[in-house]
Amino acid sequence: MTQTQSAVQHFESSSGVRIYRIPMEVFPGFIGYAYLLLGAGVPTLVDVGSGYQASTEQLLDGLASISSEHGEAFTPSDIDRVIISHGHVDHFGGLGNVMDAIGSAAIGIHPLDRRILTNYEERVLIATKNLTIYLQQAGVPQETLPDLLQMYGFSKMHVRSMPIDFTLEDGDELDGMRIYHVPGHCSGQIAIQIGDVLLSADHILSRTAPHLAPESITHYTGVGHYLEALDKMQQVDGIRLVLGGHEDPITDMHKRIGELIERIHQKKQRVVEILQNSEASLSIFQITQLMYPEKYGFNHLLALQQAGAFVEYLYDRGYLCIANLDDVKQSDNSALYYSLI
Ligand SMILES: [Zn+2]
Ligand SMILES: [Zn+2]
Repeated sequence: MTQTQSAVQHFESSSGVRIYRIPMEVFPGFIGYAYLLLGAGVPTLVDVGSGYQASTEQLLDGLASISSEHGEAFTPSDIDRVIISHGHVDHFGGLGNVMDAIGSAAIGIHPLDRRILTNYEERVLIATKNLTIYLQQAGVPQETLPDLLQMYGFSKMHVRSMPIDFTLEDGDELDGMRIYHVPGHCSGQIAIQIGDVLLSADHILSRTAPHLAPESITHYTGVGHYLEALDKMQQVDGIRLVLGGHEDPITDMHKRIGELIERIHQKKQRVVEILQNSEASLSIFQITQLMYPEKYGFNHLLALQQAGAFVEYLYDRGYLCIANLDDVKQSDNSALYYSLI
């Protein structure tokens, strides 16, 4: 990490809450942020990093620097509440290690992501089964499947299940924090408004559109929910600063949401164009190769999910049909080939 990335940054909300942003290298070369909130009820930590390699150490070092460099009368064991913004490993994978280090704290998450934390082994098993069916129907060649599934499982191996003490739902108010449920990138994704600051986690990022996967793998994810959740936040006024789970602070939320909506519509349109320009019907595997030709390894798996999320969105809304119904009739997990209606 560079010097600027490794420094804890201080922000303040209009409601007087001190917000400390702590950077961690959550995956190799990939920076994620946890946030310590002082002045919103008990000292509260939002997200805990991945638990990979040095990420927990970087979080604990960052927490320690809040007294030594920012003059707060605070030690990490003062944290009485941990909020997990959503059930992705880069945001909660370090929870076990962090709890060992800070002692007891009440842990909260949206109900739709609660099972990911409390029944992690079950969650990985069921999601892997759903992903297998998805990849078969996407037309991934049989010989490529084991590698893709192994990559999926490997990224989740070090995590252990944890009990949850409370849940956070849309509209909840908690010590001056307002909770928004913003599903799409993840089922139980929440954003937290503190005065004029929004902690957007992965829902609104400054440079990239967040990864989307089909709802057929995990309910309440996908393009439709994501667009609805962007619309929901577009109605919220009085946000001066958006702080994400990655990337840079955003000072014009409405403009950024407009750009993200535009980006989603462009990707959707790209799938339509690919099908328009093809003489034959296409599988999701083939659409992915045309849409994301340069993706390999884990990124290929992410691309297969992302292309499939757009195909699912268009199919659910009646823009596409399945062209090989005879194959589907004869075999349980036949690849599906799509055409425009
Ligand atoms: Zn995420
Ligand atoms: Zn993330």
